[in-house]
Amino acid sequence: MEYTIRRPDDFHVHLRQDALLGPVVRETARSFGRVLVMPNTVPPITTAAQLCDYRRAILAELGAPGRAVSATGSFEPLMTFKVVQDIDPRSVPDLAAAGAVGGKLYPHGVTTNSSDGARTIDPLLPVIEAMEAADLVLEIHAESPDAFCLDREASYLPVIESLVFRYPRLRVVIEHVSSAETVAFLSDMPARVGATVTVHHLLLTLDDVIGGELRPHHFCKPIAKRPEDRDALIDRVLAGDPRYFFGSDSAPHLRGDKESDCGCAGIYTAPVAIPLLVDLFERHGVPIRESDAGTGDGPSMERFVSRLGAEFYRLAPSTGSLTVERVAWTVPSVCEGVVPFHAGHDLAWAVRDPI
Ligand SMILES: [Zn+2]
Repeated sequence: MEYTIRRPDDFHVHLRQDALLGPVVRETARSFGRVLVMPNTVPPITTAAQLCDYRRAILAELGAPGRAVSATGSFEPLMTFKVVQDIDPRSVPDLAAAGAVGGKLYPHGVTTNSSDGARTIDPLLPVIEAMEAADLVLEIHAESPDAFCLDREASYLPVIESLVFRYPRLRVVIEHVSSAETVAFLSDMPARVGATVTVHHLLLTLDDVIGGELRPHHFCKPIAKRPEDRDALIDRVLAGDPRYFFGSDSAPHLRGDKESDCGCAGIYTAPVAIPLLVDLFERHGVPIRESDAGTGDGPSMERFVSRLGAEFYRLAPSTGSLTVERVAWTVPSVCEGVVPFHAGHDLAWAVRDPI
């Protein structure tokens, strides 16, 4: 049993730097043809020159720039910059010309490398206005750092609402949506407000993090929440709601940085995301391939991972393909010093490597 689908896009990844960059890029490129690269490197990506250098470093890990990495497709990093106060709004067109498709807003201190993030939105408005003019997407880590951890996402929604109405052409993505409140909020927003959904927020609840033994490799921001929050996400994704598209937030940290008395937030899902999504859609009886979803815009996994994000970002459909096959395999306990999601577990589906 196997399925061949249009090559998936991942609209939220952390590719890291230095020694981790190569293994993470190569693992990510096994499943994904295009990835939206997060800019929270050290230092963060805030200039066109940094953006070009980072893209060059990513592609260098795969060989010659732009080279096809497999028989089934090439790998294209879609670049972003970090929306910080220091950016001169006049440099936003340069960032767009250098290939940025969006800018990422991190409120202060909400996740890895965000201590330089925004404490209030006001100083960022000139940059956001310039992004609207340049038709760049604003990607938001939507959490209020001072709210109780389970309420942080919901308490940030008024900020998003104010931006959406202040900038009537701005496209906004709520990254890694995690709560039923946000799902309800999105249903009242115009279609230019979308959301990425991770595979781990479709599978985990807070019980999987702290309900039994402490599971540091299930710890992420925003934290997995109640079953009804997870179920609200599953409902929208399986219904094929076009504003929900795949962004894994695959975020590798070295094992020692997770298994620590001050452990980092982030889950490394790149090696398992597609097999787990196939399993989820199959369990719920939703087709994997678009061609099995009937005529029109019926829900399918292929549409979720290979079409809806590209449409939101106004990109051409991805080229190439990916084949997943029903082959049992055991997820490695460690990949290059990083414990992946579902480490040591047996999975029913595998991404077929190109011949
Ligand atoms: Zn992230």
